[in-house]
Amino acid sequence: MTMAGTRVTWNCASDRCFHFFPCLSDPARRSSLCLKLALVLLHLIYVGILFIFDKDLTDKTKREPWYTAIYLLLFVATLAQYFLTSCSSPGYVLDAMRVANETDALLRKTLLTSKQPASSKNGSVAVTVGGNQLGRNLLGSNATTWTKVVMEMYPPGSSVRSWTCTYCNIVQPPRTKHCHDCDKCVIEFDHHCVWLGTCIGQGNHCRFWWYICEETAMCLWTGLLYITYLENNISKTWWIDVIMILLLITLSIWFIFLVLLLLFHSYLVLTNQTTYELVRRRRIPYLRGIPERVYPFSKGACRNLYNFCSPRSSKYSLEAAANSTGD
Ligand SMILES: [Zn+2]
Ligand SMILES: [Zn+2]
Repeated sequence: MTMAGTRVTWNCASDRCFHFFPCLSDPARRSSLCLKLALVLLHLIYVGILFIFDKDLTDKTKREPWYTAIYLLLFVATLAQYFLTSCSSPGYVLDAMRVANETDALLRKTLLTSKQPASSKNGSVAVTVGGNQLGRNLLGSNATTWTKVVMEMYPPGSSVRSWTCTYCNIVQPPRTKHCHDCDKCVIEFDHHCVWLGTCIGQGNHCRFWWYICEETAMCLWTGLLYITYLENNISKTWWIDVIMILLLITLSIWFIFLVLLLLFHSYLVLTNQTTYELVRRRRIPYLRGIPERVYPFSKGACRNLYNFCSPRSSKYSLEAAANSTGD
């Protein structure tokens, strides 16, 4: 078959594939899917090789099935957490704006019909501003638009133009950044994670932390199983030893990286910061005048941890910009 013929056959096959799986026609989604597949494969290789070569582990499984059951449970939980985080919304400004506008419209409609202060249906509010319900905020200030609510979170005299995202054409609340990979503005933007194929923001930062935690535990446990194997079986079959040592070395590198990442994100949680705010502190206008060791959004380590861990009373929580005088 000629080169041209091969190319035509390949194009036909890919067209048919895209017809059945339209999501694969987008190159970005295709590469994200390939990365997900690679991650699952990596997990299967590290764990699978252990079960293929380690006869002691197989014997131990027969003697103490609960030990292997807990290990496999952690394996499944880690992968499940990975996909859950990957599919979760980081908290897009567009969604928060839609919810806020709907809440505003509902409150005004209820006020017009009953002339009574409105309350949400199930006691939970979709958007809060600095701990207050958005509905109360809108009614109190007699504002009608998202722009007005967001601008009240900035120091007086701030211009709307300087806080409008040129890509989404919406006013960004403080701590928001436009992600060029997702092409959306994200509330409390932390970073865009290539491995997860999504942004990490207010909506999924907690899930992300738990994912790193589970991955670190998985890595440590697997590493210990590799060390136990090598202690008991070294110099029995040289090529198995080489594979096991190589895998253990790469596993150790992953483990060091994960521990550092976990410690870094724990520090961010305790000080209520994001990676973006920490790295670009001098370039973010509302953080520019604030001294180095001052964390303007921190409410104390315990409160920060509580807010991070506790299920949010509202879906989106917006925080006012810090006072640039630093007091
Ligand atoms: Zn944007
Ligand atoms: Zn993103």
